[in-house]
Amino acid sequence: MPFCTNCGSSVDPHATFCHQCGTRQPRTIPQYTDFLAGLSDHAACVLCYIPVFGVIPAIIFLASHKYRGNHRVRFDAFQALYLFLAWLLVHSAAPALLFASFPGSGIEHAILGILKIVLFVCWIYLLVKAARNEQVKLPIIGDLAARSTTEQL
Ligand SMILES: [Zn+2]
Repeated sequence: MPFCTNCGSSVDPHATFCHQCGTRQPRTIPQYTDFLAGLSDHAACVLCYIPVFGVIPAIIFLASHKYRGNHRVRFDAFQALYLFLAWLLVHSAAPALLFASFPGSGIEHAILGILKIVLFVCWIYLLVKAARNEQVKLPIIGDLAARSTTEQL
């Protein structure tokens, strides 16, 4: 049971005003059956671009009913997903190269290292842009995401 922010008497969780003093109460979190219902499109896009871990909300959004017709969120979720796959590819290529490369050649590792940094910078860039409510389409990955978005609708 919440308490009034002004007089401290107990108020109904769904009440907008205190029944004792009439002070407006801060909005309590509504009881959503679908936890995505309270999430704005803006917040959803930002969540997708959390480096590495953003793939989890991205997959949830792509699978959810709420965003089935939402072009904007679906595009960002797909773009985040493909960015993660690119990251995974670079990540899994590193140990394979360790065995394949000649002893002493560090060029492949340097290239992979640079690729990882580039992908990470893309993530941060997209995260910042999403936070500012701007949509960015990356080359290649963005095209793939756009194609996936239209195909699914
Ligand atoms: Zn009160």
